[in-house]
Amino acid sequence: MNIGFIGLGNMGAPMAANLAAAGHDVTGFDLATPCPNGVTRADSAIAAAKSRDVVITMLPNGDILRAVAADIIPVMQPGAALLDCSTVDVDSARTVAQLAETAGLLALDAPVSGGVGGASGGTLTFMAGGTEAGFAKVLPLFDIMGQKAVHCGAAGAGQSAKICNNMILGVTMIATCEAFALADKLGLDRQKMFDVVSTSSGYSWTMNAYCPAPGIGPASPADNDYQPGFAADLMLKDLRLSQQAATTVDADTPMGQAATALYETFVETEDGKGRDFSAMLPRFEARGRG
Ligand code: NAD
Repeated sequence: MNIGFIGLGNMGAPMAANLAAAGHDVTGFDLATPCPNGVTRADSAIAAAKSRDVVITMLPNGDILRAVAADIIPVMQPGAALLDCSTVDVDSARTVAQLAETAGLLALDAPVSGGVGGASGGTLTFMAGGTEAGFAKVLPLFDIMGQKAVHCGAAGAGQSAKICNNMILGVTMIATCEAFALADKLGLDRQKMFDVVSTSSGYSWTMNAYCPAPGIGPASPADNDYQPGFAADLMLKDLRLSQQAATTVDADTPMGQAATALYETFVETEDGKGRDFSAMLPRFEARGRG
């Protein structure tokens, strides 16, 4: 396919490179970063989007997505697909999809899970919202960039799935970290704590696959001095999106709200910025109840 790719940052660059390596003709644009190997550079988002079969965006937030979409939708050819893989608010995803569909385009919101490692290795999970026709058109590209793609429903459903998943992730990481900190203070050996919880009813992805205690369980960012991995800042972004969505639809999410407040404090007034989101464990360890 003839593909435009806008937003070639930590995630977008390896995704675009994988599409090019698979034989697609990829033209890229980013305000700041150079194009990866195999991707032809365009001088603007408009130039990257014009006359492409599919245009993929991988951008920081909903405001930027809306601005880029407003520029490129008018120049995209009818029948082409606009595939946004960024993590953005549900409202922005739906608004952009509506604009695109009004212009005769296919539109999909398809945020990803799997991080930079998944983007490089082509093992991302895509959660997609949009029409069947849109999903079918970009499915071959999901197969190159990822290992799984779930069509979650209509426009916005991909973002909805993403923020619900990451709200669980943030809450669970905090629960795992505070339990380890409590266990430490009770004099419980960390390995014993892991051996019990990872095979008992408290098990979770954060305990079993991404253990926040260094030297325990499979390798994780905790073993690398909490270098991300998945940065606490990005967790905060996703938790905020979950609370924004919860407010919009009047959903009661007290644990999500508490997790958002904790990551906000951790990132904005403590030492969490730039650290992995599992660095909540040393934070809890260093504190008492007060
Ligand atoms: P990033 O900041 O590395 O990349 C974003 C890129 O967009 C930057 O290179 C920036 O220059 C470019 N950009 C900004 N405005 C632009 C514009 N108007 N036109 C063209 N380019 C523009 O971020 P990232 O880590 O690649 O994340 C991208 C998206 O993926 C975000 O929505 C993020 O939440 C989501 N995400 C990231 C991860 C991760 O682990 N990094 C995991 C899952 C999802």
